[in-house]
Amino acid sequence: MTKTKMTPMMVQYQKIKDQYPDAFLFYRLGDFYEMFNEDAVKGSQLLELTLTTRSHSAKNPIPMCGVPHKAVQNYIDILVDQGYKVAICEQMEDPKLAKGMVKREVIQLVTPGTQTDTGAAGAKRNNYLTALTMSTKSHYGLAYTDLSTGELKAAEITGDDPVMNELMSLQTKEVVVDTTIDDDLKARMKQLGLMISNQADVQASAEVSYVEQDLTSDLLQQVVGVLVTYVTVTQKRSLAHLQRAVAYQPKAFLKMDHSSQSNLEITQNLRTKKKSGTLLWLLDQTKTAMGGRLLKQWLDRPLIDRHQIETRQAKVGALLDHYFERNNLQEELVKVYDLERLAGRVAFGSVNGRDLIQLQTSLEQVPQIQHTIEELGEPVFDDTLAGLDPVDDVADAIREAIVPEPPISVSDGGVIRDGFNAQLDEYRDAMRNGKTWLAEMEAHERAVTGINNLKIGYNHVFGYYIEVTKVNLDKLPADRYERKQTLANAERFSTPELKEKERLILEAEEKSVALEYKLFVDLREQVKAAITRLQKLAATIAALDVLQSFAVVSEDYHFVKPTLVSGHALKIVQGRHPVVEKVLGRQSYVPNDVTMDTDTNILLITGPNMSGKSTYMRQLALTVIMAQMGCFVPAESASMPVFDQIFTRIGAADDLISGQSTFMVEMQEANRALSQATANSLILFDEIGRGTATYDGMALAQAIIEFVHNRVHAKTLFSTHYHELTALDQSLKQLRNVHVGAVERDGDLVFLHQMQPGPADKSYGIHVAKLAGMPTKLLDRAEVILEQLEQTAEDQPAVAPEAAQTAPQAPERPAEAEVAASSAAPAPVQSAAPTEEAAAAVATDQQLSLFTD
Ligand code: ADP
Repeated sequence: MTKTKMTPMMVQYQKIKDQYPDAFLFYRLGDFYEMFNEDAVKGSQLLELTLTTRSHSAKNPIPMCGVPHKAVQNYIDILVDQGYKVAICEQMEDPKLAKGMVKREVIQLVTPGTQTDTGAAGAKRNNYLTALTMSTKSHYGLAYTDLSTGELKAAEITGDDPVMNELMSLQTKEVVVDTTIDDDLKARMKQLGLMISNQADVQASAEVSYVEQDLTSDLLQQVVGVLVTYVTVTQKRSLAHLQRAVAYQPKAFLKMDHSSQSNLEITQNLRTKKKSGTLLWLLDQTKTAMGGRLLKQWLDRPLIDRHQIETRQAKVGALLDHYFERNNLQEELVKVYDLERLAGRVAFGSVNGRDLIQLQTSLEQVPQIQHTIEELGEPVFDDTLAGLDPVDDVADAIREAIVPEPPISVSDGGVIRDGFNAQLDEYRDAMRNGKTWLAEMEAHERAVTGINNLKIGYNHVFGYYIEVTKVNLDKLPADRYERKQTLANAERFSTPELKEKERLILEAEEKSVALEYKLFVDLREQVKAAITRLQKLAATIAALDVLQSFAVVSEDYHFVKPTLVSGHALKIVQGRHPVVEKVLGRQSYVPNDVTMDTDTNILLITGPNMSGKSTYMRQLALTVIMAQMGCFVPAESASMPVFDQIFTRIGAADDLISGQSTFMVEMQEANRALSQATANSLILFDEIGRGTATYDGMALAQAIIEFVHNRVHAKTLFSTHYHELTALDQSLKQLRNVHVGAVERDGDLVFLHQMQPGPADKSYGIHVAKLAGMPTKLLDRAEVILEQLEQTAEDQPAVAPEAAQTAPQAPERPAEAEVAASSAAPAPVQSAAPTEEAAAAVATDQQLSLFTD
């Protein structure tokens, strides 16, 4: 595009566009926002708009497309949801009054991380914008905020993987980085679909908002600075609702990496990527949007402090026991609107009359909620009661000032109550009197002219007029009537008296609208001064909402309060997988115990495919997570230690991030668990080693089990198809075999889904293949092969468990190793039971270098 012959408007456009090269510039032109040049070409495709040109007669016509200003939000959302930025450029003066070019400015840069109008769909989700800086190698400062609620937190994190994990857990869409972040990490973030915004790209012209903080570390202050600068520069509006920045420690919560969270389907369904079918879906009986968001936060970060967990449990218990109070509480909560986001809108100045009425209605519930909680008579709620500040000065102020059903617009009047302001009442009187004057005048004119259908009307262009139909025109006296407008069958006139009344009425209207707006803004400022109190109230109500939600689901699904113990014994009686149970129905689900006393750390699970091994493992993980959130758990009784971390290697490996092979990812995840887990961790390994040749995989599986047993001591569930491994219980004292029962009936396989002690005796792989509908011929052939294999296997000794060996070596690969052809592994061959002493020796003589870093 040659810039030589640009019109003054295009010069202005280009100047602004140059400041926002990576954003769509929505340039306000009258009733439209226009896009030009490349923005127009791309924008018209993405938004399905007609592409036209400006000055098409010129040699180089300028591509252009536009959206009506009234519908702009919709178009902005579409672009931002697809990962683009939109700069909104407004007319800063009335075009009618402007001398020369109308002044224009970008009033806001909307980006994926700063989008606040996420509509009803986003009500129960936070939208986090994150900032990242690095101090020394791989030591990061991370800060995040949700602009709609003002939440602002920061943490120091060491290591690239932990940082990536935190970003994924936050489900952030945009990361602001400064120059300390290297290209490799940026590339990794981009692969995850995150938008990277360089701090250097935004010019810090505006004064950076001040945020209160209790951060003591330089790194955290720095990263919060990067975040707040970016927000200030892009949003260009009040950020009074940004909350005091607080430091958090990812370690202070039950740690799960992102792949565990996603494999366990905690907040997102693996297949659909939706909420349905997840633990969040099951537990969410929250009545407020704030509660919905907090529940998700609690799910992402279960507690590790026993006292905190027990406090939540006590509250859930109290709500569970008091049915009537709980019911009342729910009814009251339903009437509480999204206080956090309302507070955000107050700060942004985008609040309207209806929002304020919502705020008032919400605040009016607080005394009732207080009353309900007092009725519970439980001292554990003392802190809740202290947090339930009804902020009644704000509620009163709104009630006095705003009409009960205000219009959406705050600039067209009709928002402020009669009697609130004497001056406003006067203007309104004049307006109302005006109507009476006009009615009287109309009657008078009809009388003097004798024209019965003469009427007084109003339109925007001509103002007030007297309308007389053509047939009656001759009845009109010539004097006083001044012609204003001619219609097909009528004429419109004015008179000096009408003009005078018109002036009075219009002036009153104009002044009253202006005064109303000022009164509204004053009120808004008053509410703004109370934002911190409103946020504290919001946090209290959100927590109460989540706790009542726990009580509801605990009752509906028959959960029990788990007992937390300080030792390492775990006993879950008749536990269930809550989501599978809900989907299958309570009758169809077979409950199972999980018993691991202080001397049992590993359960080796065998059983046919589809029998319920992985469900059993997930069931335990979900039970632990629920317990540590303070919720009750799906079991008849449960007693368990507080875990520090959960590691899982379950289900199909899905490493979209690095495109690594399934087996590689499996080994990496296993390695992470083996190197990071402690004796207080929970490890779930589902069929580790199946991604490689049988003996290869079996060797690894055995070595991993031994390593966990002898070095890590974490509570571990390990499912496997390698029946040979079940012999390990002879040598590894803390390992027990369990299996899922299945019976053959008339040649068909019936799964009992019932955990039983001891190893499974058969694999049933061929039965499962039959269930899947494979051809009979093929199945018959498989039976023959299996028989032969079993024959051969019986002639060969299995690899002795390490403890049975005399020399401390890694297990040897058997010389006969052959690629296994069938998922039905050879029949288990029990090795001779080693002595107790030999087993004990294992604890000290491990020589595995594979997993030590
Ligand atoms: P595996 O890991 O042994 O292949 P899964 O745990 O995936 O088997 O379970 C297969 C299916 O069996 C599940 O989808 C579920 O429908 C059903 N199932 C598993 N456990 C139970 C149970 N305890 N009660 C009832 N049905 C179950």
